Amino acid sequence: MCKMLMLAVFLLCLLPMTSGFGNAGGHLDKVFLFPKQTNDSFVKITPVKPLRLTAFTLCMRVATEQQGKREVILFAYRTPYFDELNVWIESDGRISFYLSGDGVYFNLPPLSTFRTHLCFTWSSSTGLAAAWVNGQRSIYRIYKKGHTIRPNGIVVLGQDPDSFLGDFDAEQSFVGEITDVNMWDEVLTAKDIKGLYSHNTLVYMPNVIHWRRAEFDKYGIVEEVKDYI
Ligand code: CA
Ligand code: CA
Repeated sequence: MCKMLMLAVFLLCLLPMTSGFGNAGGHLDKVFLFPKQTNDSFVKITPVKPLRLTAFTLCMRVATEQQGKREVILFAYRTPYFDELNVWIESDGRISFYLSGDGVYFNLPPLSTFRTHLCFTWSSSTGLAAAWVNGQRSIYRIYKKGHTIRPNGIVVLGQDPDSFLGDFDAEQSFVGEITDVNMWDEVLTAKDIKGLYSHNTLVYMPNVIHWRRAEFDKYGIVEEVKDYI
């Protein structure tokens, strides 16, 4: 199976930069800094392949300070008429994701000015949905069993589109730092996700969104900072 090869390649990429000690390692990579609320600052990501998905693992590292009682978008994937996959900080502090319709909500430790490693996993066949914080899984929810995420949309960081790459709302915009956004078309294991958090494992090459290889287009006030992630 070519997965073994992909795994080996990804490991080789990581090895020289991995300390082997918890989260102290990491590697130099880009971090997008959104310094303030806007309705026009965002980063568009070109995925490795279309997001026709019946399962996924979506991970990111996020730092954001409390911004009052407002919803904050963490990730948006939209086709012309639907928010296919949105990840939110809700106004009550819960973290949620929505697959074109009602969302699923998680009570997690609050995000902070220090980077948090967040992952979300979902499988259509089981309906099992979970959020992961620094390698630890939330309670499972049952959500959207049988659903399929549709392809040919646009992946955006920083804004929630309410039309195809438009109708942004500054009140929902992301303020803070985001990096290491990766997506797989399957549910990774707990061991894999812990390893991603600690930069210290064998993990399949991200095959939907690959932070190191994807093309990014920046709009508005977004700074690209090089940092150890
Ligand atoms: Ca909106
Ligand atoms: Ca929207």
